Amino acid sequence: MTLTGNLLIGQRAITGTQAAIHAIDPATDTPLDPPYAGASAEQVTQACAQAWAAFDAYRETTLEQRAQFLETIAEQIEALGDTLIDRANAETGLPKARLLGERGRTCMQLRTFARVVRAGEWLDVRVDNALPERQPLPRPDLRQRQVPLGPVAVFGASNFPLAFSVAGGDTASALAAGCPVVVKAHGAHPGTSELVGQAVARAVAQCELPDGVFSLLYGAGREVGIGLVSDPRIKAVGFTGSRSGGLALYQAAQARQEPIPVYAEMSSINPVFLFPAALQARAEPLAQGFVASLTQGAGQFCTNPGLVIARQGPALERFINAAAEHVRQAAAQTMLTPGIASAYANGITALGENRNARQVASSQPHQGPNQCQAHLFVTSAQAFLADPALQAEVFGAASLVVACDSDEQVRQVAEHLEGQLTTTLHLDADDLDRARQLLPTFERKAGRILVNGWPTGVEVCDAMVHGGPFPATSDARGTSVGTAAILRFLRPVCYQDFPDALLPDPLQHGNPLQLRRLLDGRREG
Ligand code: NAP
Repeated sequence: MTLTGNLLIGQRAITGTQAAIHAIDPATDTPLDPPYAGASAEQVTQACAQAWAAFDAYRETTLEQRAQFLETIAEQIEALGDTLIDRANAETGLPKARLLGERGRTCMQLRTFARVVRAGEWLDVRVDNALPERQPLPRPDLRQRQVPLGPVAVFGASNFPLAFSVAGGDTASALAAGCPVVVKAHGAHPGTSELVGQAVARAVAQCELPDGVFSLLYGAGREVGIGLVSDPRIKAVGFTGSRSGGLALYQAAQARQEPIPVYAEMSSINPVFLFPAALQARAEPLAQGFVASLTQGAGQFCTNPGLVIARQGPALERFINAAAEHVRQAAAQTMLTPGIASAYANGITALGENRNARQVASSQPHQGPNQCQAHLFVTSAQAFLADPALQAEVFGAASLVVACDSDEQVRQVAEHLEGQLTTTLHLDADDLDRARQLLPTFERKAGRILVNGWPTGVEVCDAMVHGGPFPATSDARGTSVGTAAILRFLRPVCYQDFPDALLPDPLQHGNPLQLRRLLDGRREG
């Protein structure tokens, strides 16, 4: 479990030939060894070629073999013990307790996908038996299943060094679907990435899978990232990060001779609507819950509540005053990277200089480098509707309260919003009619709508949607969290009039895998 700074191309650990990066401990601003040399164009090509070579064998592994592989990855990650947590803590500044929780979630995700793979529902088997006597024309025998798209490029996210990184949700769902994965490690946590990459590579060997099922590359996004997405053997992309990074990769993927799907999760300010009866009844507890969600993890969550919308009046004043008090008491927290800390500082400066936004509170001053002070701003609905800059994501613990004159203005603000990962409603029984009227707008805008809770904290389960219309994601049809994430990496194939001996197991007449099929229009069992 020694860190080498090497790329992993299949089972081979190879030194990159391009400029090296060092991880930075954001709490002290000191570089951490070893250096991670970037992959050359040839090394990117090698990883993609190996992934392609592994694809046909990997996608035909049995459901049981693939499920065991996912479980073995989880075991190998757990076997890294404190080494993983210590390195992730040094590279990200995230507290160890948070990282322990995130490791648990990462392994739980892998085991959840193992359960999904075994159950086989994702194959979505549909059978329309032949109707040779049908008039005026007979119907052939038609059978459909889902097959994996091919090798997937995964971009590890900076803000979840385990759960959205090398063996995070994108990798787990792509491997579950039967797709080999080539990961471009995030430069913020290369050592954590290497440790997890070694764990995945050990699982590949232990399960006797083809080498190219998994590779891990380091390097600059503009060379390694674009090279990876442009390689003709890569058939889909999973990404979490900035809007500019996600769009650059999306555009590179669409400019290929063969365009491919890009599932980029990018930018969301996660509006919170405070309805009048709820606000009147509990302005102060709402303010407390809001600031706890806002400041959790220095606000570095894609579901951070960056916008609050309510009718102006005494109840909203109570909410703002109480929230401002909680913000003032909050301690500054170390951010993930110097780059993210300076992007946050720039976002706060821009809001502070915006004459339409009034700053009402800031948290405790910085104690060290790369720290995030929470900030609360207030604006009017009129200003918000007129100024697109007030809708820009400020990644960190900053939020803007939009005070509306009327229900009609609340509706206009809701309608004016860009696509979001989440929309939160705080309401009481007397607010239900107002909420019902806005629900069609909320459904058009967000992937998850939640009532009387806070958007941070995303459950990994079957019903979760962590997605939404642009710019929350580049493709609103998918989710990057929860078991439905597997659907992003599949496509349907129909087999017509195949002899049973040539049909894949899931489609054979005797249903040897005992799958629940859609058989002649009726769901079995
Ligand atoms: P990022 O800059 O988008 O980087 C993510 C990955 O994409 C990195 O591997 C990066 O490689 C690559 N990349 C970035 N720009 C690229 C380009 N033009 N072409 C090809 N590849 C590119 O995201 P980040 O470093 O995590 O954080 C920066 C900002 O992203 C934050 O301040 C925040 O605004 C946003 N962010 C949003 C979320 C969210 O969930 N909404 C999560 C994390 C971050 P390089 O590092 O080599 O450029």
